[in-house]
Amino acid sequence: MLSPVTDPDGAPFWEYAARGELRVQVCAGCAEPRFPPRPCCPHCRSFDSDWRPVSGRGRVWSYVVAHPPLLPDYAAQAPYNVVVVELEDLPRIRLVGNLVPAPGAPLNSLPPDGIRIGARVRVVFCDGGLPQWVLA
Ligand code: ZN
Repeated sequence: MLSPVTDPDGAPFWEYAARGELRVQVCAGCAEPRFPPRPCCPHCRSFDSDWRPVSGRGRVWSYVVAHPPLLPDYAAQAPYNVVVVELEDLPRIRLVGNLVPAPGAPLNSLPPDGIRIGARVRVVFCDGGLPQWVLA
């Protein structure tokens, strides 16, 4: 499994996730969400930001089922899904992850034919704080 590569702008996302919290960077000047995290607001040009907690509920906006060729650590788990989840609280924010039956379950443990666009999901965190998604 790959570990997240953090940068100064995105590090708080992973720090909150390690504590089991899903948070999204929002502008402290105009309250617009910024995703992916970045230093400057594209709406008002403020460099100030906050990290707003979100409910962790969303819906599958899109998905793919990955097949080899893949990175070696992932090839053995193929085929597995990669979902794009639209957050219920902030519908313009879409997070990429995996839909699993339980936190930390193998990536290929949910049959792809059980995935539907629009399906309601909620975030869970596997060991180390990687956000994943389960059907709600
Ligand atoms: Zn702003």
